[in-house]
Amino acid sequence: MNLNRKLNMGMVGGGPGAFIGDVHRKASRMDGGIELVAGAFDINPRKSKQQGRELMLPSKRVYRTYEEMIDKELKLPDGERIDFVSITTPNNWHFPIAKDFLEAGFHIMCEKPMTFNVAEAKQLKKLVKKSRKVFGLMHNYTGYPMVKLARDLVRGGEIGKIRKIVVQYPQGWLATALEKTGQQQAAWRTDPKQSGGAGCMGDIGTHAENLSEYITGLKITHLCADLSIFVKGRRLDDDGNCLLRFNNGARGVLHVSQISIGEENGLAIWIYGEEKSLEWHQEHPNYLYVKVPDGPVQVWRRGNDYVAAASAAAGRATRLPFGHPEAFFEAFANVYCNFADTVRARMTRTKADPLAKDFPNVDDGLRGMLFIETVLASTKSQRKWTAFKKA
Ligand code: NAD
Repeated sequence: MNLNRKLNMGMVGGGPGAFIGDVHRKASRMDGGIELVAGAFDINPRKSKQQGRELMLPSKRVYRTYEEMIDKELKLPDGERIDFVSITTPNNWHFPIAKDFLEAGFHIMCEKPMTFNVAEAKQLKKLVKKSRKVFGLMHNYTGYPMVKLARDLVRGGEIGKIRKIVVQYPQGWLATALEKTGQQQAAWRTDPKQSGGAGCMGDIGTHAENLSEYITGLKITHLCADLSIFVKGRRLDDDGNCLLRFNNGARGVLHVSQISIGEENGLAIWIYGEEKSLEWHQEHPNYLYVKVPDGPVQVWRRGNDYVAAASAAAGRATRLPFGHPEAFFEAFANVYCNFADTVRARMTRTKADPLAKDFPNVDDGLRGMLFIETVLASTKSQRKWTAFKKA
């Protein structure tokens, strides 16, 4: 069976002034296979309607609440109704929204961290399994071609057995009490009722954790964490440092921060093997560095045939020829592409391209939540070294 139409996307979140909902909207349409047709865009129904007008959506497909969206979309015929929903709200809403849409029979693309806590993440995993729907999680950094290349080089044995992983995600935008000015993104991220048990470690630490496991295929087994709150009056961590142990015996260092003045989105990773090492920087995503013991540094550059030859996944994730930079939007679009191909295959009961399976899912989301919980436990403990919580 062929699905001779675009996938219909709905969105929850992404109202006026929101950050990531708009990135999802732009990235999801990049390859022409997805169209936004409906949404409940804001916690404030009036603003949801305003966003719908700005997007020039028919007003009957712009809802006051996500519950109304489920109700009314279910009454529409197949083909007109949304096929999946993208959840781009603050963290506390991810689980209830994902649960209700899954139970109503929709596929899900959800922002990270997946849920508010581990109990919700475990429940969500069960629900996804039962529903037989596709669940994507927006760990967008896995969408970069050079990250996929790094993964394929590492997994292909290019750098030898991994000894050490250093991953960092420093930012500086919360170096002052920005939340007290009413800045929307700062306000909910520093509020334990909306963000969850962790601040910075949940917000960007989960990206660092996910990236290290995605590239290496290793799992963190133990960690030793130290979370801090530097800005007076803040209730959640705005800086965190962790030592890591991985299941092959490798050691790691993960540090994230939102008070590192001058840093923007400094996600970067270094992977040291017995033979070579790798280095990648999110702010310069088109380059992957390979270092050898006794020779010049190799720079692998996105868009070249030698990249696609070494990594089919990197080739598939590339749109422009070398020298024309691709970045954040394209990485999001790559997660959407693989997710959408998998949804299409599920809907038509056909086999997806094996490369389309390459997008973060509910298992990655559960690991992210276990990571947060383990970091919080280790921070409290005097013994420090804490076993990664079991799924
Ligand atoms: P934001 O505050 O800019 O936007 C959140 C939007 O959700 C707002 O429009 C708000 O009104 C709306 N909303 C809240 N509750 C709602 C509800 N019940 N129904 C409908 N709309 C609702 O937040 P943001 O910075 O865009 O972050 C949103 C999510 O995306 C968070 O989970 C965050 O962790 C994640 N995020 C991910 C990345 C990434 O790189 N993957 C980057 C930024 C944010």
